[in-house]
Amino acid sequence: MAATAYIGLGSNLAEPTQHILSAIEDIHNIQNSSLARTSRLYETAPIGPQDQPNYINAAVSLETSLDPYELLAALQQIENQHGRTRDTGHWGARTLDLDVLLYNGLVSNDPILTLPHPELHNRAFVLYPLLDLDKDLEVPKLGKLQTLIKTLNEAAPRAIQSPSFNPMST
Ligand code: ATP
Ligand code: CA
Ligand code: CA
Repeated sequence: MAATAYIGLGSNLAEPTQHILSAIEDIHNIQNSSLARTSRLYETAPIGPQDQPNYINAAVSLETSLDPYELLAALQQIENQHGRTRDTGHWGARTLDLDVLLYNGLVSNDPILTLPHPELHNRAFVLYPLLDLDKDLEVPKLGKLQTLIKTLNEAAPRAIQSPSFNPMST
C-alpha cells in the first residue's frame, strides 16, 4: 500500500523559483509515486551563513510505494540533476535542497534518514508550507502541526503565489 511522504524544498541560487517549480515536476515523475498536494512558494531569509541570497521554500505531499531510503535516493538524484554541489558548507547556498520531512508515521534516528526531519519544528519555512498541505497534520512524536506553529511563535514567511497556484497547470 502507498505511503504518504512530505517533502521540503529549498533553493537560493540561480533562479530559485524556476528550480523549485521544475523540482516539483521532477518529484511528480519519481517512479512508483504520485504528487498529492503542493504548497504555496515562500520567500524566506537564510539560516546559518547570512551572506547568501534569500531562499524560496515549498513543500509537497507524495503518495509513494518506494521505501524511505529509495525515496531519499530519488530526491538526491534530483538535487544532483539541478547541479547541487556540496562545497558551500553546512547550510550554505544551494541550487536545490530536498528533505524528507515525514514518511507516514515513521520515526527513525538513523543519521542517513532521520524522521521526522530533526529541525522541522524549529523552522517557519517548513511548518507554514506543511500547513498549506494539511492544516490538521499530526507530526509523529511532536504532535499537532498547528501547536508546533504556535510554539515556534514566528511570523509566517511571505507567500509569493496565490493559494490556487498549481504548478502542474503552468
Ligand atoms: P538540514 O538537515 O539541517 O536541513 P541540509 O539539508 O543542508 O541540513 P544536507 O547537506 O542536504 O543537509 O544533508 C546531509 C545529510 O542529511 C544527507 O546526506 C542525508 O543522508 C541526511 N538526512 C538525514 N535525515 C534526512 C531527511 N529526513 N531528509 C533528507 N536528508 C536527511
Ligand atoms: Ca535542509
Ligand atoms: Ca538536505
